Amino acid sequence: MATYEYSCNRCGSFDVKLPIGTAPTAHVCPQCSHTARRVYSSPATAFTPPAVAGLREQEEKSRENPAVVTRVPPERAASRPAHPALARLPRP
Ligand SMILES: [Zn+2]
Repeated sequence: MATYEYSCNRCGSFDVKLPIGTAPTAHVCPQCSHTARRVYSSPATAFTPPAVAGLREQEEKSRENPAVVTRVPPERAASRPAHPALARLPRP
């Protein structure tokens, strides 16, 4: 489900929750039953937690300029136990 915004000329804006991709360009106003047109706005990314926003930014940079790693960074390797199947993988 996604939240879509509509604007009624008489009552103002209101939100409608619909399955993604099914929002029509016009919707009936819940207050006056007048036809309201859809308002296209940017997604609410301002409420994204900073850690998630940082990872998204890092992922976008990696699309253009991928970082090549040959081993797991030491701080990650120490924090999680290695799965036994990882020992069978070929090493560089
Ligand atoms: Zn209305």
